[in-house]
Amino acid sequence: MIRSITQQKSEEEILRLLEGLGRVFIIGCGTCVTLTHTGGEPEVEAMKERLSDKGKLITGGVVLPVACDNLTGDALSKYGQQIAQADVLFIMTCAFGVQTVARQLKKLVVPALDTLFIGKETALGQFDEICLQCGACILGETGGICPVTSCHKGLVNGPCGGTNNGKCEIDSAKDCAWTLIYNRLKDLGTLDAMRRFQQPRNHQGEPKPGKLVISAS
Ligand code: SF4
Ligand code: SF4
Repeated sequence: MIRSITQQKSEEEILRLLEGLGRVFIIGCGTCVTLTHTGGEPEVEAMKERLSDKGKLITGGVVLPVACDNLTGDALSKYGQQIAQADVLFIMTCAFGVQTVARQLKKLVVPALDTLFIGKETALGQFDEICLQCGACILGETGGICPVTSCHKGLVNGPCGGTNNGKCEIDSAKDCAWTLIYNRLKDLGTLDAMRRFQQPRNHQGEPKPGKLVISAS
């Protein structure tokens, strides 16, 4: 399952963001941040204690089943009084959840987490980025292995020349993505794909904000 991978902000940053905000309502989420142990039930309870120790008054807290859901506003409505008493909603979800709450409630929001990437759990407790949503997918020519996210330099034409016994020159503990691609293409009998020149990635291709409109016809 694809996850939004997060890590908790430092205590120093959290206290700076909450400066002057004495009453806090905390929101966690039961999906991605529960899996990464950054915003599930135990983390929300621990945060309540940490902030209380720093002199904050916790007006309440909840772990929503899916914070980025369109029904988040409805789910929070039953905590209306506790939310009204708070100066701020301190949100222990990924940025999708924070923005969902901000769009649905007229209330100051502060994120407790940094959202790092969209990833997948590839081993117990290990999360790897799998797609940067670069807008020019070349998985069809790399044997299904994404070089943009798995090569340290994000090279779409590799390897870089620093490959050492199948390991990356930047991090010798990590497999070289382009060696993996080479071996995969060799296994598939499509090694010729390595000779194909990929156009350099266009970092300015998509104007912001990104938007896709699907016509009804
Ligand atoms: S090349 Fe990689 S980053 Fe780009 S769309 Fe495909 S999987 Fe995603
Ligand atoms: S050694 Fe391999 S993974 Fe590392 S930067 Fe070079 S091509 Fe990318």
